[in-house]
Amino acid sequence: MYCSELGEQWHAARVEPSLAHLDAASAGRSSHATIDAITAHLHREAERGAYVAADDRAVDLEASRAVLASLIGHRPEEVSYRDSARAALRGLLNGWTLPMSPIVWVGKNEFGPNLAEFERRDFAVRSLPESDVYGHIDVDALENMLQFEQPDFIHVCHIGSASGVVQPVEQIVAVAHDAGVPVVVDMAQSVGHVPTVTGADAVYGTARKWLTGPRGIGFVAVRPDARATIDVFFSESFIAGQLGIGQAASEVVELGPDRVYSELATIGRITRERLHGIGSWEVLEPLDEPSAMVTLAPPPGWGSSDLHAAKARLLESGILVTAADTWRAPLAGDQPVLRVTPHLDVRREQLDDLANAIRTMGY
Ligand SMILES: *Cc1c(COP(=O)(O)O)cnc(C)c1O
Repeated sequence: MYCSELGEQWHAARVEPSLAHLDAASAGRSSHATIDAITAHLHREAERGAYVAADDRAVDLEASRAVLASLIGHRPEEVSYRDSARAALRGLLNGWTLPMSPIVWVGKNEFGPNLAEFERRDFAVRSLPESDVYGHIDVDALENMLQFEQPDFIHVCHIGSASGVVQPVEQIVAVAHDAGVPVVVDMAQSVGHVPTVTGADAVYGTARKWLTGPRGIGFVAVRPDARATIDVFFSESFIAGQLGIGQAASEVVELGPDRVYSELATIGRITRERLHGIGSWEVLEPLDEPSAMVTLAPPPGWGSSDLHAAKARLLESGILVTAADTWRAPLAGDQPVLRVTPHLDVRREQLDDLANAIRTMGY
């Protein structure tokens, strides 16, 4: 039985998986239509020459950009493509006129490779206080801090890579803008998953995760009225992938974005309720956190290699999840976690199987 009303339709639009795919946060499963949009264009490139083929599809490429833009609250002309979220961040930082050694404030869920991009550019990184044990950024504390000091920008991972906590991005943008501070949002784990019209100055993300677009394409968008001077230059990119991300985004729009987000939130709650209290594993989000990213702390004493062995055993029994090491969120502590990220077609039996498998591995 599907956990969501959308499950059957979403499942029928895709190849039959050979395992319980509970790993949308690594890469979601693309639809037939998305795969067809990509492969048809690759054929056209070989028939007509890649540049002619792109010109032939100018209207479709524009429509792809527009549908993605609508999901993230930007205008189509503000969107440009890169080959990953990380490349999008680099494009953004390279095109940004910042002072020497700029100051950036981040949440404790900040993605490790983003921190590496800041550090190699000699940014001074400071982490924001949290309002609870789960790691939500404390917006009141931020508002206070901003009265005394303004960083060059605030960078928020809307959802990080090792926690299902959804950061209160809209409130962060509101208090930051009151203080004249620009906000950049990493949407790699949020686009296609939770509401992503944020009002932020710049946003970026990737196609392959919750949007279930192809691997190898990311996007970045900067508002024309951004509180920062950012000129993201044009870059060569994967044209077939642009059509693929457009198709994937249009499927979210057709299902109804708000419906997709609320169904994924429901799936997150069902998954956490199912996995809560099993052996000495511990669900790390509030049970009703509105995301479908669920993380579990392993039993006490388990290290990274135990967790990877557990993930491998789950895969042998046909269940795909992630063993998430601490490099993903180095400011959040030294606890590796098991990351379970079902998409819309998860079934109750799959969660039961996962729960039973975990139970036998705990103590
Ligand atoms: C996956 C991820 C990224 C990087 O995305 P790529 O497309 O692999 O570069 C950035 N931030 C977060 C929070 C992620 O989960």
